[in-house]
Amino acid sequence: MASLLRFITCGSVDDGKSTLLGRLLHDAGCVPDDQLAALRRDSRRLHEGDAALDFALLTDGLDAEREQGITIDVAWRHFHTPRRHFIVADCPGHEQYTRNMATGASQAQAAVVLVDARKGLLPQTRRHSYICALMGVRQVILAVNKMDLAGFDADVYASIVGPYRELAAKLGIAAVHALPVVAPAGDNVGARSARMPWYGGPCLLELLESVEAEWAPPARFRLPVQWVNRADADFRGYAGTVSGGRVARGDEVVVQPGMQRARVARIVTADGDLAAAAHGQAVTLCLDREVDAGRGDVVSAAAQPAPVADQFGCHLIWMDEAPLLPSRSYLLRLGTRTVNARVTAIKHKVDVNTQAELAARRLELNEVGYCNIDLDQPVPFERYADDRTLGGFVLVDRQSNATVACGMIDFALRRAANIH
Ligand code: GDP
Repeated sequence: MASLLRFITCGSVDDGKSTLLGRLLHDAGCVPDDQLAALRRDSRRLHEGDAALDFALLTDGLDAEREQGITIDVAWRHFHTPRRHFIVADCPGHEQYTRNMATGASQAQAAVVLVDARKGLLPQTRRHSYICALMGVRQVILAVNKMDLAGFDADVYASIVGPYRELAAKLGIAAVHALPVVAPAGDNVGARSARMPWYGGPCLLELLESVEAEWAPPARFRLPVQWVNRADADFRGYAGTVSGGRVARGDEVVVQPGMQRARVARIVTADGDLAAAAHGQAVTLCLDREVDAGRGDVVSAAAQPAPVADQFGCHLIWMDEAPLLPSRSYLLRLGTRTVNARVTAIKHKVDVNTQAELAARRLELNEVGYCNIDLDQPVPFERYADDRTLGGFVLVDRQSNATVACGMIDFALRRAANIH
């Protein structure tokens, strides 16, 4: 069975991301004939008769969507090979798009980080790698591109890969798979390159097909309730996607934060009832007794409920033109729940190039800070490092309704009394 890998590409402007992605789609056999004919036509027109294909044109659709700007809009593209199904986002290189990159990274299992062989590691490389690590991406493929412009020199390659591995180790990135490539010509993209015999490893496509996809899904049963289904007077079900663990008919569960206990009477899906459901499945749970629950509540394993708290230490990536000012009230969306929140303190901001912690009174666009946050009610949560769904949140401005930050819970500062 083909497994799924969701990944992002990142790098500075002009490093060759669009070209590499286009070439990859082409070499993986994912460009239909009519699109290939259009590519041939457009390449010739754009480059005045030059017969070479401009693979960057294949990802223009993604470019157009990203130019919409303000909204956080990551354009995902699906493709597959016999071995795997892929979902990829091309993350823009400009600093102002850090927010898009962060959004992409929050859903990705792997990142392809591009470096121009002539330029080596740039501040942007460090920034993107830091954000990937912060957002929980644990697998990085370091593609050292434009090797043709660096004389296919193994020493140039080694002088980039060595320092990058050091950086990645500092950031806690579990695995770095490095390779030298030439994006337009396809060296080490879909097939191994004869021009760099000193590189003995797999090509990009082989790497993507074999890279570890799963970070272990959260082990404890959690279902954030999306909506309550009251199909008729006799039916009441709690609909949502299982975000962790597994649940079976008859299991004892607890609805949080109210902590009402019940047993699972039915697990309903569009295709009929199930005996059990696991991580990633969208289901409707019917319980054996009435509980007072709604959107935003979390159904958890009774023996292993989520902690509940109303104050957190968390990382924030600030994504708005207007800076974060502590003590202003925002809406906080965590899982399926929305509550009122205030940032009560900016403990420090992080210099993403050096990881140094700096004193700060406010957070500007694209800055990363470590903050204390205070909610107007207790919520069930997990640490982001353990669970992206119940540990990751966004802050929304009340007036503009724009997403102004994404946040990662580090730990609870004050847990709710009497509950866990
Ligand atoms: P992006 O901004 O990162 O998406 O970069 P593009 O894919 O648009 O590439 C920027 C420029 O670099 C284009 O003119 C590409 O043709 C060129 N380019 C990309 N990869 C290579 C490479 O490996 N070798 C050479 N010589 N040029 C490349």
